[in-house]
Amino acid sequence: MVLLGKLAIVTGAGSGIGRATCRILARDGAKVIAADRNLRAAEQTVKDIGNDRAFALELDVSSLESVSKGVTSSIEHFKQPPSIVVNAAGITRDGYLLKLTEKDYDDVYKVNLKGTFLMTQQFARAMIEHHVRNGSIINISSIVARISNPGQANYAATKAGVISLTEIAAKEFGKFGIRVNSILPGFIDTPMVDVIPEQIKEEIFRRCPMGRLGRPEEVADVIAFLACEKSSYVNGAAIEVTGGLK
Ligand code: NAP
Repeated sequence: MVLLGKLAIVTGAGSGIGRATCRILARDGAKVIAADRNLRAAEQTVKDIGNDRAFALELDVSSLESVSKGVTSSIEHFKQPPSIVVNAAGITRDGYLLKLTEKDYDDVYKVNLKGTFLMTQQFARAMIEHHVRNGSIINISSIVARISNPGQANYAATKAGVISLTEIAAKEFGKFGIRVNSILPGFIDTPMVDVIPEQIKEEIFRRCPMGRLGRPEEVADVIAFLACEKSSYVNGAAIEVTGGLK
């Protein structure tokens, strides 16, 4: 129960890595705000965990108004802002550069990079104003930021941006007792990966030394480590959880 007494907010909590993270943080003793733009999906996550441990919140990370409302309702409901923030909301809109539409570029940017910025800024500000110590912000980037898959220019650029944003936030927030780290998952078995064609999945298995997709819980357990005091001197790191895929 390393997270007993802690309050966490997890975005993208209605599916995949976000949902598994809610489960694992609650298992470790935290109260969890499961935030997703899809409220029904967030409510299902809460149902799985139990109403006493989790609370569902409709939140669109790409909107300042929605994120700022999320801060207010977290404080109203729990009398304090969360000290753990996990930014797992993310989308893909793949396409080769010459065909990539402005909309697909903008949509991915707004959720993956601007969303991470808004959540980081608004929740860190609340932590500072409420004198929350030992804060931990965990941003989900992707190994695609390093391996630069063709057809994913928009996605890869936002995920590389998440690593830079994380490193700068770590430098700016250290003095407030808030650590900021990013995780670079490889290919994880979630609805996001379901859409990848079988032959590309085969290629991923070939390139991955572990020869399989990761499970959402295998990412969530690393998130839980970064959330707790066992990682008290880990700050500004970008941690790969890829089964060794490069
Ligand atoms: P997922 O199963 O598709 O879950 C993402 C969740 O985020 C969905 O519930 C989605 O809702 C929600 N969401 C999308 N836009 C949002 C917004 N504007 N505000 C709030 N919630 C929003 O994806 P996942 O695989 O768990 O991915 C989680 C994170 O890990 C993402 O950042 C992804 O880029 C990253 N990642 C995943 C993998 C992988 O292999 N799965 C690898 C590397 C990195 P909708 O269903 O309505 O869109």
